[in-house]
Amino acid sequence: MKVTIFGTGYVGLVTGACLAEVGHHVMCMDVDVNKIDRLKDGLIPIYEPGLEPIVKSNIESGNLLFTTSTEEAVNHGQVQIIAVGTPPDEDGSADLQYVLAVAESIATHMDDEKIIVNKSTVPVGTADKVRNLVETTLRNRSLEVPFTVISNPEFLKEGAAVNDCMRPDRIVIGLDLHGESRRTVETAMRELYAPFNRNHEKILFMDVRSAELTKYAANCMLATKISFMNEMANIAERVGADIEFVRQGIGSDPRIGYQFIYPGCGYGGSCFPKDVKALINTSKELQYQSKILEAVETVNNTQKHKLFDLICRHFNCSKEDASKALKGKTFSLWGLAFKPNTDDVRDAPSRVLLELLWKAGAKVQAFDPEAMEEIQRIYGLRGDLSLVGTKEAALRGADALVICTEWKNFRTFDDEYVKTQLSAPVIFDGRNMYEPERMKMKGYAYYSIGRSSNM
Ligand code: NAD
Repeated sequence: MKVTIFGTGYVGLVTGACLAEVGHHVMCMDVDVNKIDRLKDGLIPIYEPGLEPIVKSNIESGNLLFTTSTEEAVNHGQVQIIAVGTPPDEDGSADLQYVLAVAESIATHMDDEKIIVNKSTVPVGTADKVRNLVETTLRNRSLEVPFTVISNPEFLKEGAAVNDCMRPDRIVIGLDLHGESRRTVETAMRELYAPFNRNHEKILFMDVRSAELTKYAANCMLATKISFMNEMANIAERVGADIEFVRQGIGSDPRIGYQFIYPGCGYGGSCFPKDVKALINTSKELQYQSKILEAVETVNNTQKHKLFDLICRHFNCSKEDASKALKGKTFSLWGLAFKPNTDDVRDAPSRVLLELLWKAGAKVQAFDPEAMEEIQRIYGLRGDLSLVGTKEAALRGADALVICTEWKNFRTFDDEYVKTQLSAPVIFDGRNMYEPERMKMKGYAYYSIGRSSNM
């Protein structure tokens, strides 16, 4: 099939590459000229395991094209997929300006039938807004061209996006059509996704509003699991329990399961924080207070301060007056990305910590296998941040080690070497990477999440 994708971010580029890989003819459009120029040369703007080879091979085969021309993009595909960002607005609601701009572009240039597929995460009711905008724009052009707007939320995970796209757990498609037009669109969607739907039925057809809400419900459920676990961790620490035993104890119950119950220094990324906020906002607009989601967000915001709280406790200062003890100190920071296997630092817990440490007058020496370029782009060059090439180099002369991301490469380290590099053997571990008993035996002051050893 001929498919157009608007937006070449984590979702658009991965979806485009995977659809091309299974034989569709894909054109990806982005307003970022620099990104498209680089993509045409096979240079991938994001770190995503397995993405580069399929982008390169499909550019070579001619299955994957890139453009900045809206007109060319609209003319290309019978299916037009919207995969642009929906960042939070000032009040927490999803900012739809990019989605609506694409919808208007499609309507401005289309002159034959299109299926407009919304893959961006958007509030319930957005498909109606897109449909109205397309109708109005076509009317202004005095054109009558048939089109359909459907919802097809994306569930891929950064860091495993190619695999998720190639082997989805489910493919949700929301459409509000009946009779023959429904059959036509269902058939087209089945054809689009047939290569990913081979072993058992994964396509779930539903109405548009349910599809739009399904995406928020999924992310809010996952964020809730994390905040719940962080709440348990904070209780565990106070009652003298170890949250890691508790985690295993509850995860072994298949009704609970092991996934997404890891305590830590908070969830981040481009999806959970903004999607929780957006659904709180949608509820408010409908005069409903979502008490659970508000608590999920509050717990997470508090948890992002957890490492700084532990640092203040160790260095005997209050958070309000942290500069007294922390000014001039250097912290070695392992991990900047919001989770391993990505370069994404949007809303990452590391950024809350960085900013608190800087405010207190401390310096940071940081290492991350993939996210340093992005941090440099955001914060620029500054005297209180050095980004170094290895985890060992980040330790040199620092007063303590802090861990924000559980990259595999951080799981083990040479105890003796670390001690020779730090001015004192102190570790603040935001991801519970190590055993408190072992760290104690090795002579470290070791702080982690939800363990009585912190007290
Ligand atoms: P992103 O910020 O990485 O990429 C968005 C891209 O859209 C950018 O390259 C931007 O230049 C481009 N763009 C903006 N306006 C455009 C326009 N008018 N025409 C063409 N391109 C335009 O975003 P993302 O992380 O890929 O997320 C996209 C959507 O998918 C969001 O709604 C997000 O919530 C959702 N989503 C994201 C993930 C994820 O893990 N990142 C997972 C599932 C769903």
